[in-house]
Amino acid sequence: MSLTNRILIAMVVGIVVGSVLNLLLATDSLTAAHQAWVRTWLVDGVFDVVGKVFIASLKVLVVPLVFVSLVCGSASLGNSARMGPIAIKTILAYLATTAIAISLALLVARIVSPGSGVELAGDVSFEAKSPPPLTEVIINIFPSNPVAAMAEGNMLQIIVFALLFGYAISHAGEHGRRIAGFFEDMDAVIMKMVEILISLAPYGVLALLARLFTDLGLSAILDLGAYVLTVLAVLLLHALGVYSLILSLLVRVSPLVMIRKMRPVWAFAFSTASSGATLPVTLRTVEKRLGVDNSVAGFTVPLGATVNMDGTAIMQGVATVFIAQVYGVDLSLGAYLTVILTATLASIGTAAVPGVGLITLALVLRQAGLPLEGIALIIGVDRILDMVRTAVNVTGDAMVSVVVARSEGQFNQKIYDDPYADMEASARPSHGSGH
Ligand code: ASP
Repeated sequence: MSLTNRILIAMVVGIVVGSVLNLLLATDSLTAAHQAWVRTWLVDGVFDVVGKVFIASLKVLVVPLVFVSLVCGSASLGNSARMGPIAIKTILAYLATTAIAISLALLVARIVSPGSGVELAGDVSFEAKSPPPLTEVIINIFPSNPVAAMAEGNMLQIIVFALLFGYAISHAGEHGRRIAGFFEDMDAVIMKMVEILISLAPYGVLALLARLFTDLGLSAILDLGAYVLTVLAVLLLHALGVYSLILSLLVRVSPLVMIRKMRPVWAFAFSTASSGATLPVTLRTVEKRLGVDNSVAGFTVPLGATVNMDGTAIMQGVATVFIAQVYGVDLSLGAYLTVILTATLASIGTAAVPGVGLITLALVLRQAGLPLEGIALIIGVDRILDMVRTAVNVTGDAMVSVVVARSEGQFNQKIYDDPYADMEASARPSHGSGH
């Protein structure tokens, strides 16, 4: 069975096992002793340990992978004066797709009205932290200590340092060429590590999801059904509709291929709810299966994982309309435009880890003049939405990478169209046996 199928099956099994355990632990069909055993040994034991080890081994690859890959990419671009245009195109594409995502969310939420008829619960309270000033945000992109940036996993600082380092390599003559060779070798070795890790994914995905669904309160989802369904519908519409349209129109390739090849990446995003932890897998898939050259992918994917969050913006759009309706606030056109602008910027500031989208939602609500306590209303269902929106976030990164690569002549359509690209040789149907 192919690895993709094994990962997808692990996902389903994890969800089913978790949901069954959730029921068993909530009712008294098990004796107290059995319940304690399941909780201690299975849920907080095996599942917790395997899941956490899996996430740690994904995260451990992120800093070396981003650094090495970006150095290789910018070293090979450095002489061609394409770095600037690629950076500008990528950033504009990320901003544009996020603005489309949030506009779509506002539009659909306006039509569906998920918040009408929802009663305010009595005990809503939410403490919002105030965001750092913009000047500080800009200064913080530039590292003062590369080792500290790597130790803290500060992605934007690592990106800036790697770009500069790669650029210098391409301008340092013979010395630069020797160093570039070293980094290319390193890149191949780290990509191998990612491959090994992906092959272990079924166990990690199963453990993570089983643990999560054991604890997930599904009753909260029923209470907020209209909100949850609206967010899910817009996420699907954006990932399957908007992205497909962009791919067909701008790149002229079949979007179905991308959807098929992104499925394992979705399983990672879904089970970790972190674009950051999924990054190694996104990068490998974009380069080896979607045919984007490392010189582009090495920049676009890490940057996208950090700043491009279409799924998060969608949740924030629907949440804003939902909260406004629950509190009976009528949003003006100006307020909608403010929400589009703030949510696009907030998604840049959202860290690629679970649950942060809900925190940056405070920024959006504040700008729209809505009560921040509204966040408390939707906290209960946020984890499940986080899983799905993270999958959309990483899909946006992959899609923009393909678009930018195509416009730069760094896209290999043969790889994109080859269903067996980057798969074990045994997966490929043998040719010529019938002749
Ligand atoms: N979990 C999301 C991500 O990593 C961010 C968020 O929306 O909370 O992409």
